[in-house]
Amino acid sequence: MSVAPSLAGAAWLREGPAAEVLSLLDRDGEEARVVGGAVRNALMGLPVGEIDIATTALPETVMARGRAAGFKTVPTGIEHGTVTLVIDGQPVEVTTLRQDVETYGRKAKVAFGRDWAGDAARRDFTINALSVAPDGTVHDTVGGLADIAARRVRFIGDPATRLAEDYLRILRFFRIHAAFGAGDLDRPALLACIAAREGLAALSAERIRMEMLKLMVAPGAPDALVAMDDGGLLVRILGGVAYHGALAAMIEVERLLGLDPDPIRRLGALAVAVPEDARRLAQRLRLSNAEAKRLDAMGHRWWRLKDMDEATARRRLYRIGPECYHERLLLAWARAGRGADPGRWRDFVTLPQRWQAPEFPLKAADFIARGVAEGPDLGRVLALAEDAWLAADFPADPVAVATIADESLARLRRDAKSG
Ligand code: ATP
Ligand code: MG
Repeated sequence: MSVAPSLAGAAWLREGPAAEVLSLLDRDGEEARVVGGAVRNALMGLPVGEIDIATTALPETVMARGRAAGFKTVPTGIEHGTVTLVIDGQPVEVTTLRQDVETYGRKAKVAFGRDWAGDAARRDFTINALSVAPDGTVHDTVGGLADIAARRVRFIGDPATRLAEDYLRILRFFRIHAAFGAGDLDRPALLACIAAREGLAALSAERIRMEMLKLMVAPGAPDALVAMDDGGLLVRILGGVAYHGALAAMIEVERLLGLDPDPIRRLGALAVAVPEDARRLAQRLRLSNAEAKRLDAMGHRWWRLKDMDEATARRRLYRIGPECYHERLLLAWARAGRGADPGRWRDFVTLPQRWQAPEFPLKAADFIARGVAEGPDLGRVLALAEDAWLAADFPADPVAVATIADESLARLRRDAKSG
């Protein structure tokens, strides 16, 4: 074990839900520590998200102590030793120390233990295997501190062996490096991931989804995705072509517009050119309906939002609505290439704030009054009139609107005769 820095000053360790759980479990012959991502982030000076706690106490003891303290206790994964305690509405996951006895693919047979080094050793990367005791002492049995200092993402043990235990670790390697690493990917790990690529086929869509969406918004995403593509990994995830230039351009568009990194929008830039791409990704990454709809909005004839004049932009906005317009426009911008003038694109982006589409002023009744019978002709003439109204740039003047109605009706009659 190396000499470790202390996290004794960290607010999330001294007070709040995690501190309460630690003081409950780290006594009377049991130990408890914060483990995994929270320790890594704190040591890197990054915001601490969810706090996971590991303990020597058996799950029934965790449940009993939690109940006695008046916390809500939920046996979220009790068969692998995980109990969730809810304190002031905040869930804290507590997992009893375990060691793998045997592994079959990703399903590990688990025995509970009191061995902190064993628990660390079954985690994926050295930087994810640190733990911190309630007094702030950081424990490192795998060389994680040195790797944190070097921002090096390294498997614990032999990469090929660790990948064969769980092929999700292929994606986690690129994701964790993109989020927390610096410099080149660890070479032995990269080569092992490439060699293990067929293993990706065995992963569930839900697990792929989680890692890929986190990867999309990580600071190092563009380079990590190129490396995945070069290694023949990305095509196995996306099932199609990756547009790395468009992703880089989309990240720049987000920056210019002050938008938060958005995993779905970035995914669209990376991998959606036609609606089929959107459908395939929705399925492969088990996207929600709302997410799938956004990708579809991007994939559908986005190139028509290029090289528009303002009147054309208004017509397109009217036709597809502000949400779809926004997604599709950003994609068109990201795909526009180097010549794109940001000022002009920005004007198109802000169009929905400057201009709201008026309601189409003509109704079925206007044509019934002009002698059109209910039926397909009514729909046809309304469509013709709407086209003409758009082509005239949304006139509101009643005389102009009546002229459009008359002319559209004349056109309908002409078309009926000739065709
Ligand atoms: P994030 O901040 O993105 O949540 P994290 O490190 O907390 O990052 P999680 O997926 O929440 O990542 O996992 C929590 C911890 O569990 C990891 O830090 C790691 O120690 C361990 N872990 C997660 N997935 C695996 C895996 N597939 N194999 C081995 N250990 C894993
Ligand atoms: Mg986490």
